[in-house]
Amino acid sequence: MRKKYILQNKLLHDIVKTNKHFINKIVRHDIINLLPYQSARLLHNTQCRQILLNANESPKNHVFHLKVNTFNRYPEPQPQKLKFYYMKYININININNILITRGADEGIELIMRTFCIPYHDAIMFCPPTYGMYQINAQILGVKYYTVKCLCNFQLNLKKIIHKINNYNIKIIYICNPNNPTGNLINKNDIIKLLKFVNNNIIIVLDEAYIEFCHTYTLLKLITQYNNVIVLRTLSKAFGLAGLRCGFIIAYHSIIHTLKKVIAPYPIPQPVSDIAVQALHSSYISIVFDNIKNIIANREWLIRKLKYLNIVKHIYPSVTNYILVEFINVQHVFNYLLKHNIIVRQQNQITQLKNCLRITIGTYHECKQIIVVLQQLLIQ
Ligand SMILES: *Cc1c(COP(=O)(O)O)cnc(C)c1O
Repeated sequence: MRKKYILQNKLLHDIVKTNKHFINKIVRHDIINLLPYQSARLLHNTQCRQILLNANESPKNHVFHLKVNTFNRYPEPQPQKLKFYYMKYININININNILITRGADEGIELIMRTFCIPYHDAIMFCPPTYGMYQINAQILGVKYYTVKCLCNFQLNLKKIIHKINNYNIKIIYICNPNNPTGNLINKNDIIKLLKFVNNNIIIVLDEAYIEFCHTYTLLKLITQYNNVIVLRTLSKAFGLAGLRCGFIIAYHSIIHTLKKVIAPYPIPQPVSDIAVQALHSSYISIVFDNIKNIIANREWLIRKLKYLNIVKHIYPSVTNYILVEFINVQHVFNYLLKHNIIVRQQNQITQLKNCLRITIGTYHECKQIIVVLQQLLIQ
C-alpha cells in the first residue's frame, strides 16, 4: 500500500516537473520573469482581528442590496444609467460619449496601454515613486517603460521628462495625482506645461484614484481643453467600494470610442452596475463626503500624535487617505505593528523611500491603536 503511494507520488512529482519545464518553453519570456503586483491582500491574508491599513481602503462599510437578482442575460456592455449618474456626480460639461466604465481603475490603466502601444516598439513613462501597476502592465504587455524620478519634493522633473520624450518612442505618460504612495498633489502648472509640450503626440493619463479626498483639485476640466488627456477614477477608495471593482475613464470622445473597440464585451457585471448606481445617489454621496471629512480629521490627529514619537523621522504632508512616514529602524516598527495586528504597507524597498511606511488612515479608534502600540514600542 505504502509502496504504491510512494510510486504514485513519484509519478506525480515527475509530471509536475516536466510540466513546469513545458510551461517555461511555451510561455512568453516576459511572463516567466515577471514579479506580479504585490497586492496588499496577497501579502497579508485578512484575519478578522487585524487592523488593515495597507490598501488605502475605506474603514467604513455600508450595506447595499441588489435591486435585480436574476442573471440569465448578459449585462448592458456600458450601463447607460451608471454613466449618467457618474456624469451628474462629476458635474462638468461633458456627455455620455466621454465616459467608459471599467473593472476598476486598474483595468483602465491596462486598456489604455493595450490600445495605444505597439508591443516591443512603443513605450510608456511614469515618475517613481508612484503606483506600481503602470510598470507591471507594461511588463505584461511587452511595452517598454521609461522612468524619470520625481524631484525630492515629489514633483515632476520636467526637464528630464522632456529630454526622454525627445529621445524615445513614448506614447503614454502616467501621472498619479494625488500621487500614491507619497500623498501629494502634482503641480497643475507642470502638467499643463507638459501637455503644451507634447502637443497631442503623447497621451497623458491622470490617475485620480484619490481625488475625492481633495476634490477641488481635480483636473477633469482639462479633458475639455486637451484631446490627449485621460482621467482615471474609481469607486474603490473614497467611495468605500474596493470589493465592487468599478472604475471610470473620462476623455475626449474619439479616445473613448477607440478604447471601446478593445475592452471586453461585457466588462461590467450586472450586480456591479446595480450597486454602483446606488452608490452615486445623492444620499450615499453625502455619506461618502462625511466619511472623507472624518478621515481627514483622523489624518491630522494621527500626524499630530506621530510627531511626538522619537522613532518618527519625517511625516510627509498628505492630501489623501494615507500618509508616508519615515521611521528610525523601519523594519522593527513594521514587525512590531504586525505583531499587534496592525498591517501597514512597506515602502522601504523603493530607493527614494528608504525607511518609510505607508499608513492608510482608518477610523479614529484604529489611529489611536497605532499610537498606543508605537508608544509601547518606545518604552520597551
Ligand atoms: C488603488 C489604485 C488604483 C486601482 O483602483 P481600482 O479601481 O481598485 O482598480 C489605481 N490607481 C491608484 C493610484 C490606486 O492607488
